[in-house]
Amino acid sequence: MVFAPDTETSLTDVAALVNSADPEQLVDVAALDEFCAKQRWTGSRTHDEAELAAVRRLRPQLRRLWDTDEDGAVQIVNELLRRARALPQLVRHDEWDYHLHATSPEAPLATRMAVEAAMAFVDVIRSGALDRLFVCAAPDCSNVGIDLSRNRSKRFCDAGCGNRMAVAAYRARRSGR
Ligand SMILES: [Zn+2]
Ligand SMILES: [Zn+2]
Repeated sequence: MVFAPDTETSLTDVAALVNSADPEQLVDVAALDEFCAKQRWTGSRTHDEAELAAVRRLRPQLRRLWDTDEDGAVQIVNELLRRARALPQLVRHDEWDYHLHATSPEAPLATRMAVEAAMAFVDVIRSGALDRLFVCAAPDCSNVGIDLSRNRSKRFCDAGCGNRMAVAAYRARRSGR
């Protein structure tokens, strides 16, 4: 394990949220419900267009974390925490042991998503591990990811690009190209 378990879960969640933008997966409120169920987002929900719009608006802000340097990332993280008036508290709920929450379960979904992302990046930045962020190496894919492997060997996103590229390379070899 590279980071604390809740940080690793959060980082995977952030990448999934960012990658839901292109192609657009959060096409309507029902799609957001499905996304939240899959990512196990609990807490208060409004299930309306405003909530969906707020989540969609958050994605490009989080995407910038992959495109900036350390000082830039610090600025984004601090801004997200400040805007949400984040207050870190250790909590234990459902099947999860003690981990950090910095918003209340009643806070809007997009706020909770923003703060969870920010708190995870606090860990990454403090560990000097921003170089674990990557953009998928497949030429036709712009998904982002975070390499949580010990030997830092991950180059492709979780959407199956690694397999896809391996198959393409194999076919190219077979056809003598
Ligand atoms: Zn929790
Ligand atoms: Zn990819």
